[in-house]
This record gives sequence, structure tokens and C-alpha cells, in this order.
Amino acid sequence: MALVVQKYGGSSVSDARSIKRVAKRIAEARRAGNDVVVVVSAMGDTTDELLDLAGEISPKPPQREMDILLTAGERISMSLLAMAIDKLGVKAKSFTGQQAGLLTDAVHGKARIVDVVPHRIRQTLSKGQVAIVAGFQGVSTSNDVTTLGRGGSDTTAVALAAGLDADVCEIYTDVDGIFSADPRIVPGARKIDRVTYEEMLELAASGAKVLALRAVEYARRYGVPVHVRSSFSGKTGTLVAGTHGDLIDPNASTGEQEEAMEDPIISGVAHDSSEAKITVVGVPDTLGQAARIFEVVAGAGANIDMIVQNVSVAATGRTDISFTLPHGDVRSTVAALNAVKSELKFDELQIDDEIGKVSLVGAGMKSHPGISARLFGALRDAGINIEMISTSEIRISVVTRADNLDDAVRAIHTAFGLDSSEGEAVVYAGTGR
Ligand code: ADP
Ligand code: ASP
Ligand code: MG
Repeated sequence: MALVVQKYGGSSVSDARSIKRVAKRIAEARRAGNDVVVVVSAMGDTTDELLDLAGEISPKPPQREMDILLTAGERISMSLLAMAIDKLGVKAKSFTGQQAGLLTDAVHGKARIVDVVPHRIRQTLSKGQVAIVAGFQGVSTSNDVTTLGRGGSDTTAVALAAGLDADVCEIYTDVDGIFSADPRIVPGARKIDRVTYEEMLELAASGAKVLALRAVEYARRYGVPVHVRSSFSGKTGTLVAGTHGDLIDPNASTGEQEEAMEDPIISGVAHDSSEAKITVVGVPDTLGQAARIFEVVAGAGANIDMIVQNVSVAATGRTDISFTLPHGDVRSTVAALNAVKSELKFDELQIDDEIGKVSLVGAGMKSHPGISARLFGALRDAGINIEMISTSEIRISVVTRADNLDDAVRAIHTAFGLDSSEGEAVVYAGTGR
């Protein structure tokens, strides 16, 4: 008997029929003798629809009210799921994030979990009942309802698994696991059997939304094994666990161990179209300018990703600084920079909404020369221009035009020999929104 936390994403509970289907899976896990905690997302695209609705009321709604609105989506699915399980003769009780003991800081819209106190969940399990928890939400230290950022139900699931010392955290979604690229863009993507926390962190940070970044950070910190799999099939999915060294079987021969050390060189290609680019044009190239610009940007609450500073034009002593940031942070950042335009003495701000970012991730690439050259060559052969580049030990990212992004993902996937020979990856549901 094990304690399992199962999380079902929005596409797995998009209508009454899907909720009944998922309820059967949960009842089976309980009848097999496990203690079962279920985290559930809002039905289908409910969260996006609620965001659209709020946008029709106000261009800048109060964040506190936004959070109360969005948490309603998960409350609908949690109660319906509890009803569906009850109907199958298994006792189930649903809880909001607050009731489940998910305590967060007070940053509305992207609150961080500060503690998990799951007394009521433990009580429910001890009575042999299934506990259903609304994902993506908690309560702040000042007693307000908060949300954890998009994809936050993954984080709820991992945090509960850590807080309850669960044996495994299963993330049920609409694909069979983590693939070498998004199967919606690359039908020939390969399923990955096992991936380390570090590689999954880079994939998630680079836009692979199959797992939320904070969920991976949390899983790594507390050593929670995460099994990403489909709620539509019985197939084994992808295990996210351990470090690169753990993948080596100590009983294997030296030759096999060396091979495992080097393999896989590349884990996957991720893409992200959620960012925009701001260029600060004509910045005087003097000491401390970058520090001042990014102090202002940080003060606006923006999460900066890539930064490029051009070589200054000798004749003018001025330079351009470009950076990328989430679309949602553009408005406040532009306002903050314009407010200090005369102090910083730049000429103008250019805003570019039409960019995409593609990233190649793999722990093995740090010891393999020529990876960047091959990636740039693949984009050249596909006729795709590169606008920005950034690298880490296990990732290379490039910015392209947004309408080149899908082609860039496919070109890189093929250039690194990642295309599967075993047929197409299945996307069971979801709109990809
Ligand atoms: P859920 O509703 O279950 O939370 P999400 O839409 O958040 O599902 O995440 C699953 C989706 O993530 C898949 O349908 C797929 O389009 C996308 N995705 C992006 N990158 C990958 C990847 N490398 N492997 C698998 N899926 C990916
Ligand atoms: N419903 C929320 C979202 O769409 C949380 C989640 O699904 O993980 O982002
Ligand atoms: Mg998700």
C-alpha cells in the first residue's frame, strides 16, 4: 500500500464524461489499497476564459479579485470530481487550497508556497477516504486567497506530495509523458523514459509547459519523484528524478557505465512564445547605465530572461540594450522606463511582440563541442534568422521571429537526430491554449 498524489490537468477533466472517466481511475487506485490524494485543475480552458471575462470588465483588474475569480475554476472541478467518485461507491471529500493547508506569501497571481500544513488531508486519508484538493491556490499570511501562477496545480501536487511524504506524485495530462519536443509541433517527438530534475528545470524554464517550473524546483528541493503520464492511456510515462549520476547502473560494466555517463547528450527542444522584446535605443555607454536600467525594470516587477547589449557606435558613444520578458510584464516595464527617460538619456523604447524562443537542452552537451554550430547551421538551412542567443552549461536558446518558431523547433529536433522511428506521438485532448 502506498500514498499517492495524483494530479489531473484541465484537459483530463474538460467535461462531465471526462470527470467520470478520471473518477474511475481514482476509485481503482483507492480500491487497490492506496491512500489517494487528488489535485485537480480547472475544467478545460476555464482559467483562460475567466481571464478573458475579467479583461472585458477591466483592463487592469485588482489582483486580489483576480485571484478569487481564478480559484473558482478549480473549485468547480474539485466538487464535481468528489461527486463522481462518491457515485462509484468510494468516499471522497474536496478541499480548497486554504482548507488543505497550502500557505503562501501574499504576491497575488504568482504566490510562492511557504508552508504546507495538511491536517485535514491526513484526517481524510485516515478515514479511508479520497482527498480531492483544488490546485493552483492557497491562502496568504494575510489571510487572502492567492494563486500560484499558470500551471500551478502541478506545484500544488508536488508540494502536497512533499508535505505528506508521498511515495510518488503522478501528473496526469493529455500526452504520454515528457517528449523530446512538444508533440503538438513535432509529431515525431520521442518519449523520454527518465529525466533528471536539472534537465527538466531547464526544459520547463525554456517553455515546456508539460510541467510547471516551480513544481520542478519544489520536487528537486524535496526529492519528490514525479511521474508524468497520460490520463487517457495506461502507458508508463516519464520519471523525473535524481541527478545525471543516478542514471548510471552501478552493476553495469565499465563500458556501459561510460556510455550511460555520456548519454543522453540532448534531452529535448523547448519553445516559448510567451515573451516580448524591449530595446532601449541610444543609451549613453557610460558606467552604471545597465545597472540603473535593470534596477528600474526589477522595480516594475518584470522577470527578465535574455539580455543583449550591442557594441557602442564609436561616433556617438551610444549603445542599444535589448531584453526579453513575459508579455504580461511589458506594460508596467515600459511605463517605469519612460518615467526615467530624461535621467537615463536614452532615445526611445522599441517593443517587439512577435518573437519566439527555441531552446536545446541536455546535460551531455557541456562536454560536446560543436553543438552550437550544429544548431545555428540547422536554422540557417531552414532559412531562419537568429536575433538573440544565450547559453548555459546545459542549454542553448535563440530568439527568432514568432512565425518561424515551429519550423525552428522541427529543424533543430531533426538536426540532433531526435526524430522517433516509432511513429507519431499521441495528443489525446486539449486545445493547446
Ligand atoms: P494539463 O492540462 O494536463 O496541465 P498542459 O497543457 O499544461 O496540460 O501540459 C501538457 C501539454 O504540454 C501537452 O499537451 C503538450 O502540448 C505540451 N508540451 C510542451 N512541451 C512538451 C514536451 N516536451 N513533452 C510533452 N508535452 C509538452
Ligand atoms: N488552471 C490553472 C491554469 O490554467 C492551473 C493549472 O491548470 O495548473 O494555469
Ligand atoms: Mg499544466
